[in-house]
Amino acid sequence: MRPSIKPPLVVGNWKMHGTQSEALTLVRRIRKGLKATKNVEVVLTPPFTALAAVKKVISGSIFRLAAQNVHWEPEGAFTGEISPKMLRELGCQYVIIGHSERRRLFKESDQAIAKKMIASLGIGLRPILCVGETLEERKKGTTTRVIARQLRIALKGIAKSGIEKIEIAYEPVWAIGTGQNATPEQINHTHRRIREVLKELFGKKQAERCRILYGGSVKPGNAGELAKTPEVNGLLVGGASLKSQDFLSIIHQFVPKRR
Ligand code: PEP
Repeated sequence: MRPSIKPPLVVGNWKMHGTQSEALTLVRRIRKGLKATKNVEVVLTPPFTALAAVKKVISGSIFRLAAQNVHWEPEGAFTGEISPKMLRELGCQYVIIGHSERRRLFKESDQAIAKKMIASLGIGLRPILCVGETLEERKKGTTTRVIARQLRIALKGIAKSGIEKIEIAYEPVWAIGTGQNATPEQINHTHRRIREVLKELFGKKQAERCRILYGGSVKPGNAGELAKTPEVNGLLVGGASLKSQDFLSIIHQFVPKRR
């Protein structure tokens, strides 16, 4: 593992799944089944409509709350959007920014993502910034270039000390929800490139402390291997975080080896 002094981070992204009552059932099961209480941070990312209810269940536990998206303005005529201060008031500590589903399906630009980063940090929300290449970009050999561009634009204007509050999630688009994993070699290689960009932007010391998570079809069956992948400082889990036993198994397999 990198000489990051932060504990590993496991994030469950529930996407657009779960009514409030379904979310409550899921979070109660996860909270009840969690054995690891030290040396790990676990972040739950329910839909907006379930944030307040989930917050009540996790209060006093090691779980933290995240939102799946945010707008950059504090308020205004932006029908359907949610502002950083609204999320803070609900008890969110983290927010996912630039998920590939937002980039691809909702045409979120690198520039919009950069504005969300600044606005979130400004109010004390820790961004989980997602970057990753499409299959076409990987086949063309442009993975490193694409990710460096995504990072440079998203992190533009952030002070050196700001990186301390940011998590990076490497999520190859072709591995999300497809059952197809990136190999440990591919992950290590890309995470190293990400860290190089971070060093360039924020200096060696700050960059070494930043957690780089992997996301893309993480399951109980591959969590053990990911735990042994040296450049992986945490996981972003989609589909498998919706099944309490699978998510707990992922956390429990990932954590003990990462001390
Ligand atoms: C995700 O939603 O970020 C993700 C990685 O999904 P999945 O684990 O289902 O591939």
